[in-house]
Amino acid sequence: MDYTKLAELLYPDVTKTPEDIEALYPARELPEGAKVTRFAPSPTGYMHIGNMFSALIDLLAARSSGGVFYLRIEDTDRKREVSDAVPVILDGLRTFGIVPDEGVVAAGERKGSYGPYVQSERTEIYRACAKALVAKGAAYPCFCTPEELSAIRSEQEAAGENTGYYGKYARCRDLSLDDVKAKLDAGMPFVIRLRAEAGGGKIVVDDMIKGKLELPENDVDVVLMKSDGIPPYAFAHAVDDHYMRTTHVIRGDEWVSSLPAHIAIFKALGFRPPKYAHISPIMKLDGGNKRKLSKRKDPEAGVSYYMSKGYPKQGVLDYLCGIANSDFEDWRRANPDESIEKFKFNFKKMSSSGALFDTAKLDDVSKGVVARMTADEVLDSVLEWSRANDAELFALLDGDRDRARAIFSIDRGGKKGRKDIAKWEDVRGYVSYFYDALFEGSSTPENVRPGDAAAILARYAELYDPADDRDAWFAKIKTLCADTGFCADMKAYRADPGAYPGSIADVTNVIRAAVTGRTASPDLYDILRLLGDGAVARMKRAAAQ
Ligand code: GLU
Repeated sequence: MDYTKLAELLYPDVTKTPEDIEALYPARELPEGAKVTRFAPSPTGYMHIGNMFSALIDLLAARSSGGVFYLRIEDTDRKREVSDAVPVILDGLRTFGIVPDEGVVAAGERKGSYGPYVQSERTEIYRACAKALVAKGAAYPCFCTPEELSAIRSEQEAAGENTGYYGKYARCRDLSLDDVKAKLDAGMPFVIRLRAEAGGGKIVVDDMIKGKLELPENDVDVVLMKSDGIPPYAFAHAVDDHYMRTTHVIRGDEWVSSLPAHIAIFKALGFRPPKYAHISPIMKLDGGNKRKLSKRKDPEAGVSYYMSKGYPKQGVLDYLCGIANSDFEDWRRANPDESIEKFKFNFKKMSSSGALFDTAKLDDVSKGVVARMTADEVLDSVLEWSRANDAELFALLDGDRDRARAIFSIDRGGKKGRKDIAKWEDVRGYVSYFYDALFEGSSTPENVRPGDAAAILARYAELYDPADDRDAWFAKIKTLCADTGFCADMKAYRADPGAYPGSIADVTNVIRAAVTGRTASPDLYDILRLLGDGAVARMKRAAAQ
């Protein structure tokens, strides 16, 4: 069989060779050991948190080695594609600060000289590679119809053999040139298949995360080009990762079973396979059992969940970095203000069995992040989030930004900031008592008699002056204690609690509960100052109830 003639017959219009393409994409000039990684989503309109996790690993691996992280859109599967899916991906990444250096870096914006970075624009490259494979006998056209393929499958199932197009079942392997010509002339659709080597042996792949993987050698004549002239993932990614000079392919471990076919394709093309890092799926605990976070069952599986709840990007990033490498937490403690890009990420420390996702832990990490932010940073972030997600809150904060900033300044700064806010959705509740429109009403501490509480509030409404400084304020609280019979000295109170209706702590709690409706709050002096006359009105109302 003259394979060159066969290749000409199939691709008469293709004149470029893989060597021509090779020359267009020279080796990257990067420091020794630099990793070139890529995030390669399919535009399905949904981004799983697992996808973002792998994008983060791409970013960490590239940045910690002085390499490049690029984004490629894998849109060869038209059936799964939805319109406007690319902005969904880019927004998701950008919201959480995962910004590629190269490729599709923003909607309609491409960067870098290893493109095109969208697979549907690379048909010419795939066709040139497919033609070259046919010309060297490593690939061939297959005209089998879906009916024929399903008949083969039934035969294999009946015989208890592996299913697939291989060995004796690969009927189109040895068609003559005349057969092919006749079928082409008859307008029969065809796919291009890899002519797999015998198989039967084992291959060993040293996975960056999973270690040595021993896998069966590929013996299936997998499809390289579909009948519409578009390659499936296996062929497209091999061609792209080679010409884009990817050094490390980081992806979900659902691809491990197709790895032998991928390696066979790289080999047939004469390309050196990249290093692989297969990430186990993110798991969750469900009734004591571990299972995969599921798009169908778990809202928190989607990246949009974290966007709509308003998780700050650093909270999500820090949490995910902690699941990636457990020593990240120590690093963060030692480097509270450093960018995650400085963290020395290590593949070997990743879980090979599937990290457990825990929203309570995420909230905790995120609260720590918010506690370290300045009041201005909090205000800006909340404004941005509420503009799109909580119009009422936005209007209240935006209506008086100085006051809003002052609210977020209470108890902020210092070594131990309060950990009240995990996500911007929590802010509505956190600030509610500062705004009459959101205030949920006064309450009374359970351990104070209602008559005593009313007396405290009525008297304090007379004593309170928003102009008082902290010392004057505290002196008045003491006066208030004396006027109502409560004990201003905690030591004396503890020595003989039965002698008093309550202590100074109870007095402040009565005031706190009347103005905030809560039993715990940030600094009461600051809250009262910000509420001013509003606080007095609430005290009077509560006293009268
Ligand atoms: N396009 C593939 C997907 O979205 C990506 C696999 C890879 O990263 O290689 O599943």
